[in-house]
Amino acid sequence: MKNFVIGIDVGGTNVGFGVINPGGRIVARTSLVTKSFVRHKTKLINAVAVCVKDLMRENKLDRKDCLGIGIGLPGLIDPQKGVVKFLPNIPGWRNVPLKAILQKQLKVPVFLENDVNMITLGEWKFGAGQGFKNIICITLGTGVGAGLILDDALYRGEGYVAGEIGHMPLNEVGPRCSCGGQGCFERYVGNALLEQEARKVFKRKDMRLEEVSALAAKGDKRALRFWKQTGERVGNGLVGPVNLLNPTHIVVGGGVSKSHRFLFPSIRSTIKARAMSVQGKMVKIVRAKLGNDAGIVGAKVLVEQVRQGT
Ligand SMILES: [Zn+2]
Repeated sequence: MKNFVIGIDVGGTNVGFGVINPGGRIVARTSLVTKSFVRHKTKLINAVAVCVKDLMRENKLDRKDCLGIGIGLPGLIDPQKGVVKFLPNIPGWRNVPLKAILQKQLKVPVFLENDVNMITLGEWKFGAGQGFKNIICITLGTGVGAGLILDDALYRGEGYVAGEIGHMPLNEVGPRCSCGGQGCFERYVGNALLEQEARKVFKRKDMRLEEVSALAAKGDKRALRFWKQTGERVGNGLVGPVNLLNPTHIVVGGGVSKSHRFLFPSIRSTIKARAMSVQGKMVKIVRAKLGNDAGIVGAKVLVEQVRQGT
């Protein structure tokens, strides 16, 4: 196969690899559990390189036909220099020139990007954001992150850290956040907080969000109210970005988005009620389409953009 791209999605517990064909489909995959390597940076990098070589050999792919490898990482990345500045959840990663290290080992162009930006690129070109020029792609999970497509391009910000929607303060005074601030959006809609609330509502210490969804599907009133209130909070947090950036679509992904049937109506009605009229009328709330594949497929968009010099 000519002109394929390899996408790599680095997470705290595993690394996903995919071969993406010119049509944007993942045609082969593999994965690596990082647990045993997590404290050994060099071992992890070498294991990633071995996985790439194996994947190419097993699928009879020639590195001359590879447009490049795109790697999404959970932290602060300098995509220009190809340096991993800092990974908050993987110890020992500070100022690692990963691009140079892997290019030397694999002899294929390597490009790095923040994982949420990579997901955003994937959803933009191959998922729920296809054909749109101004979108916000948010992931609702333990953390709440966002990628911004503005005027048909990924907006990274001067220090490559734009999109930290989870750390927009919603209140002047509020719960302390790991970022050092207080009253951050993430402290109201992050999974940890939602689960804590669910446990209070259902008076059960082991209540999980999946169960709240299952109950809502059966019409349980408390569960439906829980998701409605959660949607109101998410909507409330999105009013500011909607007014500021005037996107046509907000693509919502992450675990909680599986409860979209119960969650999205109140996100929409809250934005309609609170956003400024032009922005509020234009914006649509849509569910992410690519799930866990977005971060891998995004690599194709990244590699092609860099190669085309855009
Ligand atoms: Zn914060």
